[in-house]
Amino acid sequence: MKTCTKCGALKPLSEFHKGKGVDNKKARCAVCCRTWNREFAAQHRDETWAKANTPEKLAERKAYAVKYYAANREKIKARVKQYVQENRHKVYLSQQRYRDKNEVDVKAKKKVWYYSRSDVIRTREKVYREATKDLKRLYDTEYRIENEAELKEKARVWRKENKEQTRLAQKAYREANPGTLKARKLKYRLENLEAEKRRNKAYRKANLDKISLANKAWRKANPEKVSAYSQARKAARRGATPAWAKTKKGKAEIREIYQDSRIKSDYSGKQHHVDHVIPLQGKIVTGLHCADNLRISRAYNNMTKGWSFDQEAESERQLIITLAKLVV
Ligand SMILES: [Zn+2]
Repeated sequence: MKTCTKCGALKPLSEFHKGKGVDNKKARCAVCCRTWNREFAAQHRDETWAKANTPEKLAERKAYAVKYYAANREKIKARVKQYVQENRHKVYLSQQRYRDKNEVDVKAKKKVWYYSRSDVIRTREKVYREATKDLKRLYDTEYRIENEAELKEKARVWRKENKEQTRLAQKAYREANPGTLKARKLKYRLENLEAEKRRNKAYRKANLDKISLANKAWRKANPEKVSAYSQARKAARRGATPAWAKTKKGKAEIREIYQDSRIKSDYSGKQHHVDHVIPLQGKIVTGLHCADNLRISRAYNNMTKGWSFDQEAESERQLIITLAKLVV
């Protein structure tokens, strides 16, 4: 037992802290020591704080913290994560309190944070979308099926209100998917061939005069096309068009001659025709319907020419041309 020098109470030795006294105990009891310590701390709070937080000490502590964090990054992260998981509600409330208190600050910070990390976020969103693509498609399909009528009506209203935009979008789609549309159209036509025939027939019957006038106008506007076409048809019927004249290049060559003829007619004011050097209906040889066997002549000549030219010489020329074409 020992008497405390401060409060004077007689207490067992266990109630005294270790000290420098004769009995290795402090002169004052533990309760008095605590009271004294508290009073001292309260009186010297600022002083103590300043001493413990000199710029040097702060820097030192900060450096230590940084070093510690770098060395134990994963461990700290795991611990924080675990805490957050175990105390979700607490964390949520704490965050909420902070947000309420610093509303403007939080918003500004969020904005800055988002823009500084927008690439990262975008990439993460992309990865997420990619990973959940199938799920999303499934969900979308289900949604569309469940809300089909409503969605259709919505789209119809939108198209009505945005006519120009709709037109442009449809045009862009047609240009982007020429094959698809063509194939779809073709499929539709094949499936509805009879209906189309009936419709066309009915239209022709109802618009005889209109069609006849339109045809006449077209023939008048494109005489060279008309004659090229009719000649080609005749030649084809006789099997007189060689393979090379059926190629794109061969056809273009023939077309050019017919165009030249028209130009000559227009400029001279005198009718020119294209005729076959060796006639398609030759007596000895049959001429070919190809550029090399075509020439432009005055209509008068063509009509009176008949068959009176040196067919021997011409057939020889034609043979050479044919052989030359075959070699190429
Ligand atoms: Zn005491």
